[in-house]
Amino acid sequence: MPPVDDTGAPVRHRASRAPRTPMAERPAAERRVSFDEVGFGYTAEEAHGEAMRCLQCPNPTCIDGCPVHIDIKSFIAKMIEGDDRGAVEVLKSRNALPAVCGRVCPQEEQCEASCVLGRKNDPVAIGRLERFLGDLDLSCELDRRCRPELAPPSGKRVAIVGSGPSGLACAGQLAQFGHEVTIFESLHVAGGVLVYGIPEFRLPKDLVAAEIEMLVELGVKIVTDVVIGATYTIDELMTDEGFDAVFIGSGAGLPVFMGIPGENLNGVYSANEFLTRVNLMRAYEFPASDTPVWRGRKVAVVGGGNVAMDSARTALRLGAEEVFLVYRRTEDEMPARKEEVHHAQQEGVEFKMLCSPLEVRGRDGFVTGLTATRMELGEPDSSGRRTPVCVVDSDFEIECDTVIMAVGTRANPLLSKAAPGLELTRRGYIVADDECTTSMPGVYAGGDIVTGAATVILAMGAGKTAARAIDAWVRRER
Ligand code: FAD
Ligand code: SF4
Repeated sequence: MPPVDDTGAPVRHRASRAPRTPMAERPAAERRVSFDEVGFGYTAEEAHGEAMRCLQCPNPTCIDGCPVHIDIKSFIAKMIEGDDRGAVEVLKSRNALPAVCGRVCPQEEQCEASCVLGRKNDPVAIGRLERFLGDLDLSCELDRRCRPELAPPSGKRVAIVGSGPSGLACAGQLAQFGHEVTIFESLHVAGGVLVYGIPEFRLPKDLVAAEIEMLVELGVKIVTDVVIGATYTIDELMTDEGFDAVFIGSGAGLPVFMGIPGENLNGVYSANEFLTRVNLMRAYEFPASDTPVWRGRKVAVVGGGNVAMDSARTALRLGAEEVFLVYRRTEDEMPARKEEVHHAQQEGVEFKMLCSPLEVRGRDGFVTGLTATRMELGEPDSSGRRTPVCVVDSDFEIECDTVIMAVGTRANPLLSKAAPGLELTRRGYIVADDECTTSMPGVYAGGDIVTGAATVILAMGAGKTAARAIDAWVRRER
């Protein structure tokens, strides 16, 4: 309950001047050897104290900062009134996966970056409040959780390719519109990157499963181990299987390598393979689980994004003595979330900045090290970031027995090759307009397969946009 005055009414004290409420975390030494979640989340008291910092601005700029325009001011207002269930309802009317987004969204670049309080003070910890409310909802029995109203059955059937955030968000929205929805997922577990990529210590898997459980409760059917493009083509879904529309949310999970000598040595992983083995196949429990993973003693991770940070921190937890992060720019240019960079450093990941691998060295087929070159920053490129340039005669050696390449991903061509009518970009992503409409009638696409690797919330936003367009398509006069 929030603080109240003598009459029992909530007190709007000048909490906004108070510093942001910290969130308790597992100590770094404990984290290094455990896949348990790092942050503990707010207690009810901490969450309400933080909510009281919100100014309830007449012009709440935080909402514009959120890619899916969650009514942040209103859900915080409900918390200030002590109506947490009401707050969950406001939040979930825009975001079906608040416990996920509260943990992984880059709020510091989105809603919190736009919070008025941030001009002179710390912004309201919107992400942590979102996490608190999402967890509160998930802590209830399934039949007591906040659930959306469902429209009467429309008799229309929609197929969704991929069960990542875009597919899940699209499915949830379509179910609300009254359509029969089937998700086809190529892996044996639903959730996309949320289950195979982002590690347990950042996003517990039972929490993702609980969010998906609610979708199933709403009537969404999930069929795993089906590869669209192989098991069925898109055309077959529309003709033989009788679906009225298809949404493609197949992500951009095909790993990219650097193309340098030695990348085929034993001990070189793509980040996706390494993380999938550990997160999805629970290789850290081998031989109790079926899938092994090479446990490196000295591990070099190449890259500077969230995927690199997750790989480095996972390697530490598998028992590596030393983990180096090799990145060609400086820490300031790293695309990873600041919080993840901070956690990686606290846990002991060593950052080797301004250097780039030239070759993976090996002996008897196994990795023994990296030859790298020093870099310096030159002129800004088209993205505004300064371009790294090799420093002449600056090659040096890094001793390691494992190399994890986290230098990006791209679209898997398997699905699009079996759908010749689908227009693609030069890089193999699906061309779709603002409504997620593709070049094939009745086929919509969104998330990473359209934008390239992006974020959970953008993928979810695309899924919801597509659902509205699909609803109009299947209900149109024929
Ligand atoms: P995905 O999540 O990739 O899901 C696509 C699904 O489609 C997969 O399950 C795949 O198996 C399935 N599929 C593919 N092809 C087929 C087919 N032919 N037939 C059937 N199924 C198919 N974003 C953040 O906002 N915050 C973070 O902290 C963050 N950390 C990340 C860490 C890692 C390691 C990675 C890899 C990504 C991270 N991201 C993060 C990015 C974010 O996870 C993605 O942008 C988001 O998951 C994209 O969602 P999606 O639905 O488009 O695709
Ligand atoms: Fe509250 Fe910040 Fe939004 Fe204003 S901008 S309503 S202070 S969260």
